[in-house]
Amino acid sequence: MIQKIPIVEKILSANDRLAEMNRQKIEEAGVFSLNLMASPGAGKTSLIEQTLKCLSGEFRVAVIDGDIATSIDADRASAAGATAIQINTGGECHLDAVMLQNALQQLDLTQFDLLIVENVGNLVCPANFPLGTHKSVLIASIPEGDDKPYKYPGMYRGVDALVINKIDLLPYIPFKMDFFRTGVEILNPGVVTFPVSCQTQEGLDEWIAWIKTNVTAKK
Ligand code: MG
Ligand code: ZN
Repeated sequence: MIQKIPIVEKILSANDRLAEMNRQKIEEAGVFSLNLMASPGAGKTSLIEQTLKCLSGEFRVAVIDGDIATSIDADRASAAGATAIQINTGGECHLDAVMLQNALQQLDLTQFDLLIVENVGNLVCPANFPLGTHKSVLIASIPEGDDKPYKYPGMYRGVDALVINKIDLLPYIPFKMDFFRTGVEILNPGVVTFPVSCQTQEGLDEWIAWIKTNVTAKK
């Protein structure tokens, strides 16, 4: 008689193992951390600037910026009051857990309450490389079009929160919010969603409240 023993074993990839180490380090420091992902131009850095403005004096924020080249985004985060570290990926179109591990070595995490990681602008592979942050946030934006959840399901499926940026442009762009939201709902039912405009500040209060709740819970 052959007895079959089901072996339930989660085999982690090298990246996922390093991501777990990053998580442990961030967790031990009592810091709440975000992985901000979006296509280029959706407003990741603008949302970071607005967030820093709203949290200034209340929380100490570190920003780790991933870009293929330049330190434009880290310079903006630094100007907005964060301690900012730039990772230049030298061509890689996403951040991975090793890159974050290296960047974390340059930070004394105990000096911060919130860590924001700005991923490389890309709607495809960042979703496949967990970094070890607590929450993944995707920023969609109105000019990108309402079909993006259908075309890039991998990005929408795994995130913990969705920001819909540039809602001030809704009167000028044919964007069917119902169609967009239906696509999101199929992939990620009930995901917490923040329609905002970083230009007019509309909707930012709810986003900031969500961040504050999460940061406070880590203290
Ligand atoms: Mg940016
Ligand atoms: Zn990539």
